[in-house]
Amino acid sequence: MQHEARSVLRDVFGYAEFRGGQADAVDAVLGGRDALVLLPTGAGKSLCYQVPAIALARAGRGMTIIVSPLIALMNDQVSALVGRGVAAAALHSQLDEDERRAVIGRLVRGELALLYVSPERAVLDGFHRLLARTPLALVAIDEAHCVSQWGHDFRPEYLQLGALRRLTDAPTIALTATATPRVMAEIARSLGLRAPATITGNFARPNLAFSVHHVRDDATRLATTIAALDRAGLRTRHGDGRGIVYCATRKTTERVAGELAAAGFAAGHYHAGRTGFARDRAQRAFAAGRTRVLVATSAFGMGIDYPDVRAIVHYQAPGSLEAYYQEAGRAGRDGLPGACVLLFGRGDLETQRRLIDRANAHAEDALVEIERYANAATCRQQLLCAHFTGTADHPACERCDACTGSIAEITVPVIELLAAPAQQVILDAVAALGRSIGKVNLARALRGSQSKAMAAHGLLHLPQHGALRDASEESIVASIEALVRDRKLVRRGKKFPTIALPNASRPSRPARAATRPARTGGGGSIAIELDVYRKRMARQLRWKSYMVFQRGAIVAIDRARPTTKAELARIPGLGPAKIERFGDDILELVRRYTTSSLR
Ligand code: ADP
Ligand code: ZN
Repeated sequence: MQHEARSVLRDVFGYAEFRGGQADAVDAVLGGRDALVLLPTGAGKSLCYQVPAIALARAGRGMTIIVSPLIALMNDQVSALVGRGVAAAALHSQLDEDERRAVIGRLVRGELALLYVSPERAVLDGFHRLLARTPLALVAIDEAHCVSQWGHDFRPEYLQLGALRRLTDAPTIALTATATPRVMAEIARSLGLRAPATITGNFARPNLAFSVHHVRDDATRLATTIAALDRAGLRTRHGDGRGIVYCATRKTTERVAGELAAAGFAAGHYHAGRTGFARDRAQRAFAAGRTRVLVATSAFGMGIDYPDVRAIVHYQAPGSLEAYYQEAGRAGRDGLPGACVLLFGRGDLETQRRLIDRANAHAEDALVEIERYANAATCRQQLLCAHFTGTADHPACERCDACTGSIAEITVPVIELLAAPAQQVILDAVAALGRSIGKVNLARALRGSQSKAMAAHGLLHLPQHGALRDASEESIVASIEALVRDRKLVRRGKKFPTIALPNASRPSRPARAATRPARTGGGGSIAIELDVYRKRMARQLRWKSYMVFQRGAIVAIDRARPTTKAELARIPGLGPAKIERFGDDILELVRRYTTSSLR
């Protein structure tokens, strides 16, 4: 049979040799064995089942069923095969009654070599009864990662495909371009594969340059996006190449497309909320080169293949590294250079949490992995490949921002301090209050907050309540910190630091905390403080404590004793979102610990 397979490759497809991975997959199924194939997009997964299907049909062994999730993809494949003289057809919901009957007729007469079906149909009893009327040579499950609820394209019908597997003794081949080792195991289990031959391709994309930019605000996101598209030569109306900007939400695609158009780009936008007509038009304009940049949600994806995409910008972080690599991997299909830029900012993970199924615990793991990728300082491509293959032996790419030593510094906007009169308002407020108060609550009171916390702390009737309405909370807090540095205010307490006037009498509780004997010997105790802190935050946020930060981060903080947010950003596992949320507290904790153990 192996010999026949090679002649099918030559005669039907016109290729001299199998590519990496294909020969193993073909050999496995022709040898009657199940196979699980993980090959990157463009590697040639279709031939892994088409070649054996044709060889088996020629040998009179029966028909091959291919389950495929997208009707458009099925139709493309069927017409390509028919064009090569292969007896192929598809059964899906878009056929009319006559077409359907014609396909079924050919099936029962044993005329078909390949039959593509949608997952919805593949699980129907009626379809199974139909299959009983013709011998089956092979079952192929395309986009097999759709069985996984951990993956990003979950299709419930895929969970029932095991039934199809049980109908027949013919081998089953499952194929995907995107699965972690964990998802691979899930595919094998769910489909009931029997000791499958596992084939993993090479995921390296040597022509792609990956980079991550940590961004703090929308203006920076936009500026970084524009710079990346500019570098790819996409600002002019006409020219070679295209770019895709992926956004997490529909609203963002519309806004960003508008901004890019205003900046002189020929930009369109695409998301699942648009009418089919508007979507088609956006896609056609992009295909024809009338728009060179398409701003899209992940709805613009599967089955899309333009060879000359020069830049893929993720305006917001996606929900998993699998989704990221699949989307970013649409760059440079022609082998020419492509830039893959991930913008990562505070709130991105929160946005994803809103979008994903909260009950899915794995989704949180996937976000942790995205964050780890964003914060990594080693070869991005190595990390991505390792994510899929589960092995670490990938060479550095020499192209990414880490390899070229050009990881963009985290852009922390300068927070302006308040002018002297406004600073005096802060001091007056603390004096009027006559006791210590948390800096954030004070800042909020000065901005006029009416929240419950204000009432609880007796801040609503402060004479200065609302006096700094026009200042930002950040600049008030920064000014309070500056006043502490200037010793015009003092900080009180350890776990719940508050501020007070220097000469005010010390309330008893924080005093006890402050005079507690300083721990010496470094090591353990700062770790204990950090652990107490993360547990407290976890309780407040109703998170698991590892979601605040992980043990590894505690150890690293203890070792590095960071004093600035930039240093904090180098702690593995602390992304910008976490630094945003917890950074001040962590720095304060470290500062207190180090000064108290010096004393
Ligand atoms: P995938 O499904 O893995 O994304 P495809 O099956 O669509 O990839 O194949 C990608 C391209 O590679 C197609 O144009 C296909 O004809 C071509 N191709 C596949 N196998 C070979 C081969 N052995 N030699 C040359 N070209 C191949
Ligand atoms: Zn690299």
